[in-house]
Amino acid sequence: MVHNFNAGPSILPSEVFKQASEALLNFNNSGLSILEIGHRTPLFEEVMNEAVSLVKELMQLDADHEVLFLHGGASTQFMQVPYNLLNEDKTAAYIDNGIWGSKAIKEARLFGNVEVVSSSKDKNHTYLPKRFEVPADAVYLHYTTNNTVEGTQWHTIPETDAPLVADMSSDILSCQMDFNRFSLIYAGAQKNVGIAGVNLLVVNKNILGKVTRKIPTILDYRNHIENKSMLNTPPVFAIYVSMLTLRWIKKMGSVAGIEKLNNEKAALFYSVLDDLPIFKGPVVKEDRSKMNAVFTIEDPALEKQFLEVCKKENLYGIKGHRSVGGFRASFYNALPLSSVKVLVEVMKEFSNKFG
Ligand SMILES: *Cc1c(COP(=O)(O)O)cnc(C)c1O
Repeated sequence: MVHNFNAGPSILPSEVFKQASEALLNFNNSGLSILEIGHRTPLFEEVMNEAVSLVKELMQLDADHEVLFLHGGASTQFMQVPYNLLNEDKTAAYIDNGIWGSKAIKEARLFGNVEVVSSSKDKNHTYLPKRFEVPADAVYLHYTTNNTVEGTQWHTIPETDAPLVADMSSDILSCQMDFNRFSLIYAGAQKNVGIAGVNLLVVNKNILGKVTRKIPTILDYRNHIENKSMLNTPPVFAIYVSMLTLRWIKKMGSVAGIEKLNNEKAALFYSVLDDLPIFKGPVVKEDRSKMNAVFTIEDPALEKQFLEVCKKENLYGIKGHRSVGGFRASFYNALPLSSVKVLVEVMKEFSNKFG
């Protein structure tokens, strides 16, 4: 029995892996592998249609919001978002709460004026400043809902009148939100809704068509909407795995059911973390992420030892991001509560021995 706390790519429900592996050999009793059928066949069109309608249902999207499955990781969206939304003579507002947000800022600067309206850099991104001014003429405000590396998460939607654009790569469909409040949402699938190779995108079609630059066909969201994510060959297998994962989320009681489970996991982990003086959590409590818990050990000499114990107990992926150090445990949707129980028992034992 292994416990997979990897930050991404990361754990998926075991039934999804089973169904996906079956489809590799004999997809829906067609006698063909899902990897050798045309994407414009009814067999695959059904997969795409079901994936899109599951997203609409789970997010309770209104008719203005379109759902797309696009190539490339979330990093592609750092460029594609401003390409489609930010004119050269206009301003976009960005919040800088960590590594991923700052990468998005770097790309946006290639396209227009970028104003960083808020940054948590002064305290190593261990908190989320909630007060900031967005220029009245900003075409959108971009932020990262969950900072995968630094372990912070927005538990409310930032207050602004500007159209909202969010990178939800590491917490999409992990908790209930008014998804219709967003003009654009993007997420690389490999953390909460599938495998690497596909982006889930939700876009309010009313914000498109406002830039004057020429947009290459494959980068223009409007073409993907018109072609129902089939402008060219889509990443068929990645979309299939997302569809299976979305089905699983629905079976788990939809987003409300998943949120309850995620709350239980985070509450258990952080209560034990706060109980054990040997471990520290650098993030301020109210901004702690329920998806990625970042923690350290008081005595750096014990760091290696703790990682060795984790390895022995089959706890995978506990080593912190290279830029932050320490430890990180990711509690994505598919991680069962039982894995968190094992992790906290290991932490308690370690603390008893060395604390
Ligand atoms: C993982 C991650 C990304 C990068 O995703 P890629 O698919 O590797 O491009 C971007 N943003 C956030 C918040 C992430 O967690």
